[in-house]
Amino acid sequence: MDAILAAIKADQAWTLEQQISICQIPAPPFKETERGKEYARRLGELGLVDIHTDSEGNVISRWPGSKAPKPLIVFSAHLDTVFPEGMDVRVTKDGPKHKGLGIGDDCRGLASVLTVARAFQKHKAEFNGTILFVATVGEEGQGDLRGVRHLFGKELKGQIDAFLSVDGTGTSLASRAVGSNRYLVTYKGRGGHSYGAFGMPNPAHAMGRAMARIADIQVPVSPKTTFNIGRVEGGTSVNSIPISVSMEVDIRSESAKELAALDERLRAALQAGLDGEKQRWPASKAPLDLEIKTMGLRPAAEPPDSLPIVQKAIAAGKKVGVTVFATRAGSTDSNIPMSLGIPAITIGGGGGAQGAHSIDEWYEDTADSYKGPQWAAMILQALTEK
Ligand SMILES: [Zn+2]
Repeated sequence: MDAILAAIKADQAWTLEQQISICQIPAPPFKETERGKEYARRLGELGLVDIHTDSEGNVISRWPGSKAPKPLIVFSAHLDTVFPEGMDVRVTKDGPKHKGLGIGDDCRGLASVLTVARAFQKHKAEFNGTILFVATVGEEGQGDLRGVRHLFGKELKGQIDAFLSVDGTGTSLASRAVGSNRYLVTYKGRGGHSYGAFGMPNPAHAMGRAMARIADIQVPVSPKTTFNIGRVEGGTSVNSIPISVSMEVDIRSESAKELAALDERLRAALQAGLDGEKQRWPASKAPLDLEIKTMGLRPAAEPPDSLPIVQKAIAAGKKVGVTVFATRAGSTDSNIPMSLGIPAITIGGGGGAQGAHSIDEWYEDTADSYKGPQWAAMILQALTEK
């Protein structure tokens, strides 16, 4: 293992090159094909076998050095970004900072996975188990974890024994899953002239009533539970009663129970907005309707830190000089295996970054950024140890 760790350290600059070049291939939500193809090609060059793209778009490959079929470990990073098609994906340099869309999240993870493969290849690594190197699609918001859902629900259903994802930078360890429910909420009415048709229920006013109720919802600090109205739109002009207004709402919790309770209160607030506005205009026969569309559902899970995979990851970190002060809850590909009771963690790929999910995202290659991929390699070793 020492030789593998040394190879990873020596490859620090190579890792950064991979990170930048991957990042310059666009991978918008639902359009990860181009990046996936190139990633598959690189995996092939690094000695991975049985490379294929599944029907959802995940790139799957197998490390050939396995002395036993089990345990089956999936080692992965995600291909997709949050950025729509057509944006400039060139990575620019500003002093020590590399600026680019998704440069940390998750080009760092993708590069770390390749670096581990390269070190395995150099030293013909063998394990008491099978390691699949995977690049998933649809990890980000809109994708709603579609890649990893497919992996655990169909492609490799019932076969995976543990899941290690490298997502983003730094050395954080996510061992719990923040669940989230996301909705597109629309209030619809007849609409009309603001003066001439006055006296009918107004969808904007109904939504305003609901928003005020949502804003006042009390949530526990621990387990952390949150709500957010992130986007609002609708209406046609200042002097028209709108036909339709809508908002996007995101609620989250580390606890499945708290999330369900908050979901109920959210729905009650939405209904109260509708009812309140209808009651305001009892004489009006104009309709007012509420529509709630699900945009995404990510399951919450709270596995304890005493879980072997968590303990092994912390111990593996110590061996490469990564100190885990506290585990965290994340919203990553690991949500799916965690919610299925399959051991899973998400770690950072080393280095420093800021501005994930923004156009100002940057990455800085710290002196010890190689510890990210080293940590991943040590965890794989620990997970396959007899
Ligand atoms: Zn990510």
